[in-house]
Amino acid sequence: MTLGKRLRRTVKFLHRRYKDLRMIARGLLSTDHPVLAHIIPIRRCNLSCAYCNEYDDHSKPVPTEEMFRRVDWLASLGTSIVTISGGEPLLHPELDAIIRRIRQHGMIAGMITNGYLLTARRIEELNRAGLEYLQISIDNVLPDEVSKKSLKVLDGKLRLLAEHAEFHVNINSVLGSGVRNPEDALAVARRAIELGFTSTVGIIHDHNGQLRPLGPREQEIFREIMRMGKRSFSRFHHFQENISRGLPNQWRCRAGARYLYICEDGLVHYCSQQRGYPGIPYTEYTAEHRQREFYTAKGCAPLCTISCVQQVALLDNWRAPQTAPKPALEPVLAAAAVRSAGAASAAAGRPAGQARESLVPLSTLRE
Ligand code: SF4
Ligand code: SF4
Repeated sequence: MTLGKRLRRTVKFLHRRYKDLRMIARGLLSTDHPVLAHIIPIRRCNLSCAYCNEYDDHSKPVPTEEMFRRVDWLASLGTSIVTISGGEPLLHPELDAIIRRIRQHGMIAGMITNGYLLTARRIEELNRAGLEYLQISIDNVLPDEVSKKSLKVLDGKLRLLAEHAEFHVNINSVLGSGVRNPEDALAVARRAIELGFTSTVGIIHDHNGQLRPLGPREQEIFREIMRMGKRSFSRFHHFQENISRGLPNQWRCRAGARYLYICEDGLVHYCSQQRGYPGIPYTEYTAEHRQREFYTAKGCAPLCTISCVQQVALLDNWRAPQTAPKPALEPVLAAAAVRSAGAASAAAGRPAGQARESLVPLSTLRE
């Protein structure tokens, strides 16, 4: 690696740390802005993981001008972090322009990808666009009929990232029912640390984002990966311990207020697994909606496994108790689609869903 690349990495690392700390300070001082938003520039994916309910094989990219409007809207709300997800975001032809737009507003820019389309040149382009955080989820060591997001297939991409990326890279592995060999998660985490990345582990949830307890060996592996991440930005806290044991957590889900999920159709949802609630177009989503959701308890919270929303909630769990859920709003078609996708997976005997977790740089708040 050249000296110039090393220097750029160091400068960008320090700048990210500064922005992370500023984001946390703002989040603690005020509750009136979203901390994290997920945006979906394209629902299509180049893979078809059997557990996934967040992709299709045909939809077109959201026009770039419309993505700009959504990014501008998030900036106008004072949003701290925008994570681009999908589908596979690298399939959007003007992804870099969207990243640039996020950065122009001073927001933190992240992306979740399956990594298949990364090349040395593409990584350098993402550096230049200003990407700050990237996450790849790796499901197994060898590809199988459930997932092709495998260490064997992606190791070359990881080496390219280790060599070229000037942004933070986190590798997420998975545990839970439907994962054939839990030892794979350990192998993925070890490889991530070896290459200088951070490592997290997600637990496969059901089609409503709810918990499925881990077996004894899986719990051991879960703790081992947590220990490996101790010194990294992605370490876990007692919240994840409870999840691994199948125990409920007491927390206040602030989805719809501090966390926003904006789908490809421009509708605001609680999260990827509760699409359809509230399902309001972003152009009509007001400060009153956000305030209502800030104070509304979500019935799915105790057994929720969506860790990015839980991490955002750390900023507010100590304040502002929530009231009981309001009567459900009329779900939009997207909710029915999510649920029927889940039912189809279950009927086909496929494993349950896994959220495309976002990396949230809240390391200072954890442990
Ligand atoms: S999990 Fe990711 S890579 Fe797999 S089908 Fe879903 S969006 Fe595509
Ligand atoms: S608790 Fe919040 S993040 Fe978790 S599934 Fe429910 S709405 Fe989504």
